[in-house]
Amino acid sequence: MEYETMRQMLGLPSLLEIPSLLVIEPHPDDNEVGAGATIKRLTERGVHVAYLTVTDGRAGTEDPSVTAEEMVRIRMGERQRVNQLLGVEVSFNLGFEDGGDWSEHQLMMTLVPLIRQFRPAMVMTVDPWTPYESHPDHVKTGKAVAASLIYAKNGVALKGQGDPYDVPQIAFYGSAYPNQFIDVSDTWSNKLEAMQAHTSQFDLPNWPLVSGFLTEEAARLYREHFGMEKTGYVEAFKVLSSMQLHFFPEAVRS
Ligand SMILES: [Zn+2]
Repeated sequence: MEYETMRQMLGLPSLLEIPSLLVIEPHPDDNEVGAGATIKRLTERGVHVAYLTVTDGRAGTEDPSVTAEEMVRIRMGERQRVNQLLGVEVSFNLGFEDGGDWSEHQLMMTLVPLIRQFRPAMVMTVDPWTPYESHPDHVKTGKAVAASLIYAKNGVALKGQGDPYDVPQIAFYGSAYPNQFIDVSDTWSNKLEAMQAHTSQFDLPNWPLVSGFLTEEAARLYREHFGMEKTGYVEAFKVLSSMQLHFFPEAVRS
């Protein structure tokens, strides 16, 4: 069997063809860093996009004079402004402590009923299996989201908390093993604008370095996948069917 075609064998549409998307981020800015330009492309196409933010973002400063409460308030405001820029319809913060000692299991138990309620065509989150990813919030979030897909469709697990639902596909951003390359040349500037609207995180002296690096990387991926002679930008994702999330070692090469 050619596992490259597993999603096609299941008749699953590509990322740009889905009708609805639930994007789950560890902190209130990760969705833009990982997928902001793609999300703008999707909402322009009329795709329903909802966000869940796992943590409150309180650790998003190195300035000890800023209180946790202030930081949370600032970042909630930034999240709302950015949602408007990108056309995100619905957004909730789950209120887990940024850098706190919550567990992957606790998060999964929170996510399963929400996924059963949203019933998206695809869930997107950060790739927890990218080598060297060391932020516990990112690792726990990515793994909890993937595990949630397994239990969301199970009629016995979390019984009484919504009707079971099988999310057909999952997309990971920030992946070392991408298999879908989205041409985001037309919305690249929207991504950078959205990132900068997270003022507390990116309106900083190192912004030219951060944005320059991301832009060069996106242009390199574009040349690699759409032709050396052209100029454009790409965001890359690892997209898997839900069945590839369990007992499926070939998924890494898919
Ligand atoms: Zn983060």
